[in-house]
Amino acid sequence: MKLPEMFGENVFNEAVQKETLPSEVYKALRATIEAGKQLDVSIAGTVASAMKKWAVSKGATHYTHWFQPLTGLTAEKHDSFIEPEGDRAIMRLSGKSLIVGEPDASSFPSGGSRATYMARGYTAWDPTSPAFVKEGTLYIPTIFISYTGETLDNKAPLLRSMTALDKQAKRILALFGINCKKVATTVGPEQEYFLIDEDEYLKRKDLIMTGRTLFGAPAPRGQELEDHYFGVIKTRVGEFMRDLDKELWSYGIYSKTKHNEVAPAQHEMAPIFGTTNVAVDANMLTMEIMKKVAQRHHLVCLLHEKPFEGINGSGKHNNWSMSTDGGLNLLDPGPSPEKNTLFKLVLAAVIKAVDDYQGILRASVASAGNDHRLGANEAPPAIISVYLGDQLGALVDSIVNGGNYVAAAPCATSIGVPESPIFPKDATDRNRTSPFAFTGNKFEFRMVGSQANVAEANIVLNTIVADAFCAFADELEGAKDLESAANALIARELKAHYRIIFNLDGYGPEWEPEAAKRGLLNNKNTADAVPVFYEDKNVKVFVDRGVFTREEAIARADIRLENYIKTINIEALTMLEMAKRDIIPAVSDYVAELCANVAAKKAVDESISAEPEKSEIVELAALNEKAAKAVKKLEKDLAKIEFGDVKSASKSMAHVIIPDMEALRREVDKMETLTSSDYWPYPTYSDLLYSVK
Ligand code: ADP
Ligand code: MG
Repeated sequence: MKLPEMFGENVFNEAVQKETLPSEVYKALRATIEAGKQLDVSIAGTVASAMKKWAVSKGATHYTHWFQPLTGLTAEKHDSFIEPEGDRAIMRLSGKSLIVGEPDASSFPSGGSRATYMARGYTAWDPTSPAFVKEGTLYIPTIFISYTGETLDNKAPLLRSMTALDKQAKRILALFGINCKKVATTVGPEQEYFLIDEDEYLKRKDLIMTGRTLFGAPAPRGQELEDHYFGVIKTRVGEFMRDLDKELWSYGIYSKTKHNEVAPAQHEMAPIFGTTNVAVDANMLTMEIMKKVAQRHHLVCLLHEKPFEGINGSGKHNNWSMSTDGGLNLLDPGPSPEKNTLFKLVLAAVIKAVDDYQGILRASVASAGNDHRLGANEAPPAIISVYLGDQLGALVDSIVNGGNYVAAAPCATSIGVPESPIFPKDATDRNRTSPFAFTGNKFEFRMVGSQANVAEANIVLNTIVADAFCAFADELEGAKDLESAANALIARELKAHYRIIFNLDGYGPEWEPEAAKRGLLNNKNTADAVPVFYEDKNVKVFVDRGVFTREEAIARADIRLENYIKTINIEALTMLEMAKRDIIPAVSDYVAELCANVAAKKAVDESISAEPEKSEIVELAALNEKAAKAVKKLEKDLAKIEFGDVKSASKSMAHVIIPDMEALRREVDKMETLTSSDYWPYPTYSDLLYSVK
């Protein structure tokens, strides 16, 4: 089958809707999807039966409400279409089954909020994200809420945040005489991942239990040759990527770009951007499909932010913008941004939002895995700042400091090769070290972790920008002379938030002290980053914009900390098991063999030198003793953690347990380099990173 035909073949998309629904029903459904009109419940029955018929024609026997509980993963419970009719079975999907489901909510994280309410939870159809058939089941994207209406997932608040932004952005546009039906936020998440051989993976308890290596000395070859980035794709990896593309395309996911990343065995897939909630669903599905396709190739896809120490970790660059249904991108500077008041106002709103709420933006991407990237000398740093590039940087400077803005003439670049065409130079250069970079007509939020649900970052982004739009609209709606009032506001806000702009190298040693001088936050780990969520100002922005209630906001922070504590606990327990049951005994056996060798040599002839063995015995025995002590300390400290109190337990995890784990790892990694490979119980970094051909 050709690509255009197979694209979206598993999706109940617009074309299928048009073909299978009566035209009135089709129009009503599209009005909900495109203009955000409340769903007319009376059409549900008709849509359900068309959907079922189509799904059955694709081989489906079951349907599921597909949702995103706060585990960070997706959840599904399959029901068959089967119903008795007389003594036969028929296939049926009722309107009610399409619209609501009732999974038991008590086994999903709720941050304690449900203790006061009830165990009952509902899933409700999100008609704006298309249903699809996968492995014999019709997947219906849904939101997940409790009996009393608290959100228990990432989807409902995401949709609320999109609604909030839509509402406030339209007020801003109206000031400029632009009327539109809808302003949607758009996202294109670039997904990084590692691929390793399944046989090697299965020999590593740490990878199986935690998704990352807890021990491992560096391979002789890391990423220093810079030869992997954009390098030739290996045959097996290429086969995986081709299969992945095909499968993603069949689900209507616009997988566009694939390439090798910086670290050995690291790769990336970038899709074409889409409306945020659809892009979020697509990314959740992408991560799942990546893992499944890898399995078919006897590979394992690692989505953890830091599977290997000493080489790059994985992120998910969240390209974000806002567009009207008429196709106007609010972050498009146009040919003369200095004259584009609407654009400058939007830019000022984003800058204000990111500065005012840098704490919750940082917290929205905080996790045990991502802590290894942010704040650990890796891209990007834990400090939030905004990169504007030369052109917009100069424009903002001229507004803040006075002085003339000289528009950079769009110059053609000659590359000195006559055969090669001349290409226009981009207005913004790339800055790979900034956590929040303007890239032409969108911002790229680079702090998101590779395994995160991108909804979490986008809930915050949409909410805080909606809030800034609201403040601006409140001020400008009554203005007599909009142009001058808007320009005064832009200048004032850019001055007030100038500190968040940083156009230089975010990895450089100068940035941390400079950022501290500017009063920017630098919360390096989850335990330190998340508590800002509890601050009144931050709760208020969610409440004001109708995204979270106070209780929901606090529950989210609790869940994030709880998840952090549990993750570190599992990592610590896995380390202990590996060290106590495998590593320490292996080293001890190897030392015993060395001792036996020394004795055997001496038995032959006292004068034979046993110095190499002897010095190794001394060194390894000492290291093994240190490792055993580090094990004891980790065990003792872990026993002291009071898991019930998330704030103090998370701090202990960050500031006591993680240093304990690092200390244990140091000793073990040294032993790995000295112990015979016949004795070492696990595949090494070389085995893991270089075994795929
Ligand atoms: P790079 O940043 O690697 O140079 P691109 O600029 O082409 O690559 O785009 C990176 C990602 O940004 C892609 O996933 C693309 O679809 C997405 N993107 C492009 N425009 C927008 C937009 N207006 N809103 C959201 N994402 C966008
Ligand atoms: Mg990019």
